[in-house]
Amino acid sequence: MRIVSTVDEVRSQVKAWRKEGKSVGLVPTMGYLHEGHESLIRKAVAENDEVVVSIFVNPMQFGPTEDLASYPRDLEADSKLCESAGAALIFHPEPEEMYQEGFCSFVDMNGLTNALCGLSRPVHFRGVCTVVNKLFNIVMPDKAYFGEKDAQQLAVIRRMVKDLNMDITIVGCPIIREEDGLAKSSRNTYLSPESRQNAVILSKSIFLGKKLIEDGERNPEVVKKAMRELIMTKPGMDIDYVEIVDNNTMQSIDVIAGDILCAIAVRVSGEARLIDNFMLSV
Ligand code: AMP
Repeated sequence: MRIVSTVDEVRSQVKAWRKEGKSVGLVPTMGYLHEGHESLIRKAVAENDEVVVSIFVNPMQFGPTEDLASYPRDLEADSKLCESAGAALIFHPEPEEMYQEGFCSFVDMNGLTNALCGLSRPVHFRGVCTVVNKLFNIVMPDKAYFGEKDAQQLAVIRRMVKDLNMDITIVGCPIIREEDGLAKSSRNTYLSPESRQNAVILSKSIFLGKKLIEDGERNPEVVKKAMRELIMTKPGMDIDYVEIVDNNTMQSIDVIAGDILCAIAVRVSGEARLIDNFMLSV
């Protein structure tokens, strides 16, 4: 496995693979990899001849008061995980390589981003769309892999690929959880031991919401209220949102029907803003 930091190095490697007729998969990440990322890489390795993992903490998708500076980084551990999962190349650029002097072109979206995380993180999806578009142009993969953990991001990327006629298959991968249910996240490392224990209430509320709907509840307000009340049984929980939306448009619904996304974002003890969700076809 190679680790490279320039666009040119990625391009010449991919060109060589293409000459041999090989297919290429891409797994975009911000690093500090865990079993959630690993599941994406392993799926990509199973479905492509060669796999590129990008590790880039993208400044453009962080707001001014967010955790860009403190975001955890560990390239050595990440490379071990990528190598054992079967990746062929890590692309680990510096911000200056991705955003050269005078950079002023962006990919923005007007519909799916005015809900959920798009409301509390106003610059986030413009940063995500722009960097993912750049990574697609640099690697030109056949398939790219994204986690359902970031469900709105997955919907946004699918939309961008469709709207801009990108010839790339987007593969969504299920949420990988800790043993107690908490969704794995690089940001879980921000939590004190006590907050980590309390944070399990997020996944418990997700499982509760899912069960209520599976048992026949069709009023989103009833489901959201029950989820909110459960979350608030633990100290330090500051709910950003508990929402049920149409999984294609990200807009709120009055009745639970069709493809729905139930998503939550909660600040835990002021230490970490964590997200979780479930999707259902009702
Ligand atoms: P990140 O490094 O947090 O930007 O995540 C990179 C990719 O890994 C995204 O597509 C995430 O949705 C995915 N991912 C992160 N955590 C998980 C998880 N617990 N289960 C599945 N996919 C995940």
